[in-house]
Amino acid sequence: MQLFPILRTACRHAGDMLRCIDDAIMPLRCVFCGIRSTAGEQHICEGCRGDLPWIANACGRCAQPVAFELPQGVHCAACQKRPPPFQSTVAPLRYEFPIDAALKALKFGRRLHYAPAFGELLIAEMQRFSVEIDALLPVPLHWRRQAMRGFNQASEIARPLAKRYALPTILDVTRRRATPFQSNLAAKERSKNLRHAFVARKSLDLQHVLIVDDVVTTGATTRFLAEELLRNGVTRVSVLAIARAT
Ligand SMILES: [Zn+2]
Ligand SMILES: [Zn+2]
Repeated sequence: MQLFPILRTACRHAGDMLRCIDDAIMPLRCVFCGIRSTAGEQHICEGCRGDLPWIANACGRCAQPVAFELPQGVHCAACQKRPPPFQSTVAPLRYEFPIDAALKALKFGRRLHYAPAFGELLIAEMQRFSVEIDALLPVPLHWRRQAMRGFNQASEIARPLAKRYALPTILDVTRRRATPFQSNLAAKERSKNLRHAFVARKSLDLQHVLIVDDVVTTGATTRFLAEELLRNGVTRVSVLAIARAT
């Protein structure tokens, strides 16, 4: 009966332990080229940062790249046709090499030293949200998947943000069922799998919540998560991710 909380605690400890070991054995070098950091606490050197696949112009609502810079308050055709439940999305990079490889290494290869580097990238993007943020919500994993992986990658990349901006992290939203690996599914299937997947265990009296994820693909995950937040007392939702799959 008490098995689930015990497993949850156990996998949180396993994640902490892996992170400590990684911190101890990995000196502060650029996570992409391996050159030792000369500029203080940087996990990505200036050269590699400049070479990353930055998105020049994107829709402010869903982060989908667009050909030209859109005027303030004007969103892409898809958002105009079907406005998403979140007000804004920032996902500064394309899901291309080396970001795709690094995110997969973090997620599936347990290369946790990428997490503070991605956290560093996200910290720099926070200034793009014009409305003050009250709390972070890393996209929850189902407890079984988190137990298998030992950590939640979204929580790992959100941790430096929470620390830097002294923001609380919402722990009362859970993923109700294990969905098949989303990367293998078509958009329609993803959407079907995610409906009712997230549950807020209590009412959240918050003005503005920032959902944090590693990569935004179709936006279905963040859409359903945002809807659950709005149903449970949150007034406004925004999204921050490392990359946008296009
Ligand atoms: Zn580098
Ligand atoms: Zn859009």
